[in-house]
Amino acid sequence: MQNIQHEFQYDLLVIGGGSGGVRAARMAAQRGARVALVESGALGGTCVNVGCIPKKLYSYAAHYAEAFEEAHGYGWSMAEKPRLDWERLKANRATEISRLNGIYQNLLSNAGVTIIAGWAQLIDANTVQVNAQSYSANKLLIATGGTPMLPEISGKEFILSSDQIFDISPFPQRLLVVGGGYIACEFASIFNGLGAQVTQVYRGEQVLRGFDEDVRHFLANEVRKAGVDLRLNADVATIERQSDGLQITLKDGTNMTVDAVLYATGRVPKVSNLGLENAAIKQSSSGAIIVDQNYQSSAPSIYALGDVTARIQLTPVALGEAMQLVDHLFGDGSKKMDYELIPTAVFTHPNIATVGYSESDARAQFSKIRVYRSEFKALKHTLSGSTERTLMKLVVDDASDRVVGLHMVGADAGEIVQGFAVAMKAGATKALFDSTIGIHPTAAEEFVTMR
Ligand code: FAD
Ligand code: NDP
Repeated sequence: MQNIQHEFQYDLLVIGGGSGGVRAARMAAQRGARVALVESGALGGTCVNVGCIPKKLYSYAAHYAEAFEEAHGYGWSMAEKPRLDWERLKANRATEISRLNGIYQNLLSNAGVTIIAGWAQLIDANTVQVNAQSYSANKLLIATGGTPMLPEISGKEFILSSDQIFDISPFPQRLLVVGGGYIACEFASIFNGLGAQVTQVYRGEQVLRGFDEDVRHFLANEVRKAGVDLRLNADVATIERQSDGLQITLKDGTNMTVDAVLYATGRVPKVSNLGLENAAIKQSSSGAIIVDQNYQSSAPSIYALGDVTARIQLTPVALGEAMQLVDHLFGDGSKKMDYELIPTAVFTHPNIATVGYSESDARAQFSKIRVYRSEFKALKHTLSGSTERTLMKLVVDDASDRVVGLHMVGADAGEIVQGFAVAMKAGATKALFDSTIGIHPTAAEEFVTMR
């Protein structure tokens, strides 16, 4: 192991016990480094406590509503109308998250990491203060993640962010969701599925900027069919408390009354009160810590990764970055995080999953592309009565025949696209897709039968 110096208490001190911080601390300790990790909240960070995991649990909960409705066509009768016990769902979610917090604690303790509870502030480039006590380390890692960005509007005090929506009480029968990104689209689908009357307003032409155009339009159509009142080119002007709820006035003068307002308008790096100025750490205009290809900041002893660097804000990316960093600091430095072809899913109903180029980006990148597109009603819905449709799309670089973009909107898209992402990283051509035998009858087989 390299770079171990003993004039400091620790070889590595990690600030932030989220996806990136926990992985880095654990891996470094397993390689023999003396590691401490400071966490001000619950271990597991955003993903475990107010992100991926509780969100996916609620998404599963919302899917039951569809399943109950669709069961009739398959011969089932409900003795009574299904009813959501929101308090029971919240309590069960909280129990599961506590269990995960405990697992993270054990993983760190078993690896020999010292866990320090409290808010960390940099004193200098090798010293951190927590609860008025100082800790020194040869290397510091800042993995403090991000926090919701809420715009200044009249009535801001009534707004909820995704951090608060998980525990909202009582269940909002009428919910306004503002934004058109991952979180806004996911929560609009989730609360719609759970039985709320959901209005989603997005300021732009179409939700999910950056995704394939076809996917964006298809998804918008599907969520509208499912019951979300999606309003494009719309934005909130004011929010006021009235006796029957929150009165919303949109910029076009339209009014509506809702029980709660969720703003999902992006996230910013969590850097305030961190003492970055005490170590002369350079930041971008958004506050993100600027790092090089080995996650080293402008202060040579200080590294940063994950959402605080405001690049690709996904848990598996923070984990991958942590593994590269630990290998760089305490291994042979051969491990490299590969940012090519990162797959991603949006857990809307139906799900989106995508890897590689959108059609328009591929047109800009390659001299000639071929596009294969299939839209169909999944076999399941021949009897279910659901009008939900599935979209699958392949984008192929004509010169090399490589599949450079793969997109799906449909049930289990995330589960399906993960495997295809491996094929694409291996450089799979359209000819290879064509020569692959499908699994019948599945939706996934469409990806190998599109001609
Ligand atoms: P975080 O996980 O945010 O961890 C940072 C930790 O640092 C926190 O625990 C915080 O309390 C702590 N901290 C901050 N400042 C200090 C300080 N000064 N002292 C001590 N501790 C401090 N990604 C996916 O891949 N899939 C998904 O389905 C998905 N769903 C999401 C849903 C929502 C609603 C949100 C908000 C995010 C979602 N993400 C998802 C993104 C994912 O959660 C983040 O990309 C990931 O958690 C980033 O990890 P991180 O280690 O950089 O930061
Ligand atoms: P996003 O950046 O994805 O979306 C923010 C949305 O808010 C955009 O539609 C943006 O519009 C809009 N917006 C920004 N500012 C304003 C404003 N002042 N007024 C009105 N609308 C505004 O952020 P999210 O908060 O949805 O999510 C943050 C990140 O977390 C994601 O980018 C993703 O990386 C991660 N995440 C991943 C998930 C997953 O993997 N399934 C799930 C949830 C989050 P415009 O496009 O016009 O700028």
